[in-house]
Amino acid sequence: MDAEEKLGTYRQKRDFSKTREPSGSGRKKGQKSVFVIQKHAASTLHYDFRLEVDGVLKSWAVPKGPSTDPKEKRLAVQTEDHPLDYADFEGLIPAGEYGGGTVLIWDEGTFENLHEERSMVESLARGHAAFTLKGKKLRGGYALTRFRRGSEENWLLVKMDDPEADPDRNPVTREPESVRSGRTLEEIAAEETD
Ligand code: MN
Repeated sequence: MDAEEKLGTYRQKRDFSKTREPSGSGRKKGQKSVFVIQKHAASTLHYDFRLEVDGVLKSWAVPKGPSTDPKEKRLAVQTEDHPLDYADFEGLIPAGEYGGGTVLIWDEGTFENLHEERSMVESLARGHAAFTLKGKKLRGGYALTRFRRGSEENWLLVKMDDPEADPDRNPVTREPESVRSGRTLEEIAAEETD
């Protein structure tokens, strides 16, 4: 399946005549794979954790956001693949549209697969991926692990225990602003409504 086919669900859910989110036309050039975490004040606040894998952004909604404490397991609900240019989106999704609300680029950077023998595609298919983030807020190893409870399938996002781990940092609470514009959710909402 190529990136075009994988974006079918993403496009079905959105009316691009009404939202300024990208429709996913362009491929970004660059050597390293990118990651982005978008703080999204929709019907409920969550953090969209996205990793560039195989031409798209594999995506998970993390209700509590990522932690820097290896003891904190954060629920991550996989959502539809997003186009690579979604990593640049910060702004308002109109009320009434899918995901309506404010989006803030909470962290961004590059990542490296920590598995030497397995690609990210294979790791995700097996339900366990480990990678190093090089972001502005988050750094060091993180792991995503799939688990099943009944018929439900979800993931956990956990900080690996390494020198970048810090149980007391709590960046979700203490560093709420956009790494791209320095704005808060409230400032984005106010500026983009005008
Ligand atoms: Mn979202």
